[in-house]
Amino acid sequence: MALETAAPVQAKPIILDLSRSELEREVVDAMGQSRFRAKQIWQALHRECILDFEQITTLPKAFRAQLAERYIADPIEKVYHLTSADGSTDKALFRLPDGELVETVLMRYVADNHRKARKTVCVSTQAGCALGCTFCATGQQGFRRQLTTGEIVAQIIFMQRIALAEDRAEVEAGERDLGSLQGVTNVVFMGMGEPLANYDNTMSAIRSINDANGLAIGARHITLSTVGLVPQILELAGENIQINLAVSLHAPDDETRSETMPINRRYPIATLLSACRRYVEMTDRRIFFEYVLLSGQNDTTAHARKLGEKLSGMLCHVNLIPVNPTEDGPYQRTGRDQADRFQNVLRRYGVPSTVRIEKGIDIDAGCGQLRARVLDEDAIG
Ligand code: SAH
Ligand code: SF4
Repeated sequence: MALETAAPVQAKPIILDLSRSELEREVVDAMGQSRFRAKQIWQALHRECILDFEQITTLPKAFRAQLAERYIADPIEKVYHLTSADGSTDKALFRLPDGELVETVLMRYVADNHRKARKTVCVSTQAGCALGCTFCATGQQGFRRQLTTGEIVAQIIFMQRIALAEDRAEVEAGERDLGSLQGVTNVVFMGMGEPLANYDNTMSAIRSINDANGLAIGARHITLSTVGLVPQILELAGENIQINLAVSLHAPDDETRSETMPINRRYPIATLLSACRRYVEMTDRRIFFEYVLLSGQNDTTAHARKLGEKLSGMLCHVNLIPVNPTEDGPYQRTGRDQADRFQNVLRRYGVPSTVRIEKGIDIDAGCGQLRARVLDEDAIG
């Protein structure tokens, strides 16, 4: 696998790094406790979101102390936390045990005629990123290290605590039934870093948050976004898990794509699209293409025609996202009219697309300064 680095140096292991069965083995074999205790710990951490052993009052005090001696319960420390003026978006910056920093975003969507209310967390999988896309703030920072499974899961648990507290406040105000606590409904792997370059930890984080005795985020409510690492896309196709895959395409031809995405020299568009077709064939699932609109670079109707030709007939959906210009980046946002023209061309080729709604603009809510946005789950099969 690409980009493996050594685990961060720290005194104790992170308990959230363990899968449910690994935790059970530790508790039973290494700590001499019952399976029931392992179940209680898993539920306290992953369902009740208590990341402090002392507070897990269902466990005997001595055992809580033993756990605290052995493991880190909460691997992320909040450095700051902002809420957008309209209250729809929260962004938090966390410090990891070795001092690295990552961002996480929570986006709230109210119910409309088509869709239920939902709360989506955008999660980071690496500190920095090695892939160097020229429009991306994280790419401009370079690669720092992989996040562990627990460091990924803890970001979602943090936001789940906020989401559940909001649900409970609604119960108290008589606006919600006690039985309908929902918390976080969706998770997108679109924060800092390339999730498929941290394949094992990302997959085990997905399995942990999907666990029915934990956060229980449905696989169909989880979306992983990749820059387009071909071997890992094919590996993912063979996993028995129904998550959504989004591929950052951002250009319809190699010349245009190589200008902004160095990875295109390794996996050019024909290779990438043939892996995507194989993914659709193997999983029977629609693929999402992200297409960041960069004014004058990839957003003309000629680009749209080329894109339409390439994607026509494929089980896919294109998300058109006007770029969020980064501090030193040379790119300008495409206007709404041009985005609509681009979309009309795709429509002529029978390629469905959505121009992305953006959230949290005033707090730069996005990981590594990306603007937060989310896939249109309506379009997800
Ligand atoms: N590394 C993965 C996932 C993280 S980036 C990937 O590249 O897909 C998530 C999405 O944000 C990607 O589609 C990425 O291209 C996009 N993105 C990066 N910088 C952006 C910017 N400045 N404005 C809008 N989208 C951006
Ligand atoms: Fe890395 Fe994704 Fe940013 Fe490219 S867009 S530099 S792959 S995080």
